[in-house]
Amino acid sequence: SSAPAPIPATLFPGDGIGPEIAEAVKQVFQAAEVPIEWEEHYVGDQIDPRTQSFLTWESLESVRRNKVGLKGPMATPIGKGHRSLNLTLRKELNLYANVRPCYSLPGYKTRYDNVNLITIRENTEGEYSGLEHQVVRGVVESIKIITRQASLRVAEYAFHYAKIHGRERVSAIHKANIMQKTDGLFLKCCREVAEKYPEITYEEVVIDNCCMMLVKNPALFDVLVMPNLYGDIISDLCAGLIGGLGLTPSCNIGEGGIALAEAVHGSAPDIAGKNLANPTALLLSAVTMLRHLELYDKAERIQNAILTTIAEGKYRTADLGGSSSTTDFTKAICSHL
Ligand code: NAD
Repeated sequence: SSAPAPIPATLFPGDGIGPEIAEAVKQVFQAAEVPIEWEEHYVGDQIDPRTQSFLTWESLESVRRNKVGLKGPMATPIGKGHRSLNLTLRKELNLYANVRPCYSLPGYKTRYDNVNLITIRENTEGEYSGLEHQVVRGVVESIKIITRQASLRVAEYAFHYAKIHGRERVSAIHKANIMQKTDGLFLKCCREVAEKYPEITYEEVVIDNCCMMLVKNPALFDVLVMPNLYGDIISDLCAGLIGGLGLTPSCNIGEGGIALAEAVHGSAPDIAGKNLANPTALLLSAVTMLRHLELYDKAERIQNAILTTIAEGKYRTADLGGSSSTTDFTKAICSHL
């Protein structure tokens, strides 16, 4: 009998520490015999007129064709008259939801040890529509856009996610008492979708109260769904609950079933090329990609190997208080597979 054909997936190693932590992912996947064949794409040094950015049309086509990918951090050069790489990816691939699983890592002590929640952020509109202008001197205006289409789409994804992952509750986070029209429409859409999922408890929590509850007792939450700006803030707050951005995975969901996983942190230029970076966030992002592909066995095995390595405490990178190199930490994970 022949082995099943490997699944093609796009890999953007990215900038700074990106190539080092992408190498860690490749090694761990190889050790776990994951049936993935990486198609590596690098960011160019010239603007591709078809994308108006350093990302080439071919690399976007690769994600569209494969429908799954993993992205390392990309440094955004400021003010050179082209689109940011992350913005290009989000727009071109229509990445409408950002999903961040957030759970306590056993053995790595933080203030809480019972965090197990998912934030799902609408990623295309709200205050981030980029519609800002000056009305007169000293008065500026920013336009917040909420549409029924985008709100239904993200709510639908949140309930679908809750259902297939055996989650019990979805909380919509809002400020509809003040933003009556915009957040009001967002909530209305969430309610409509909630009616189709009677087995999942639905609740609405005002954003300020949500912050207080998260900090007092994060175990109060399960799946959270929210508009763009609130999601940006709350998802970082949640990363802080479990030990910071170096540990937090994320996955972007796009139109037509695209999933582009990425670490939350940046390219860490201060430690790039020194074999010091912690690959955990990118590895756990790769695990979310495997779950999206329904390769649950491989996902579990890799996640356990990472968590065991961190819990044992013998091999940890400097950001977690250890003195291991990226490569030694990666070897330790592979030896647990
Ligand atoms: P950063 O996340 O790169 O670094 C912040 C601090 O965290 C640094 O001290 C860094 O050494 C440390 N750090 C980050 N990731 C780490 C890891 N995996 N292991 C160990 N330590 C880690 O944030 P920044 O310095 O504000 O941004 C640097 C560049 O990255 C900028 O060009 C920015 O635009 C870009 N960036 C990209 C993304 C992305 O591609 N999604 C996200 C954020 C920032």
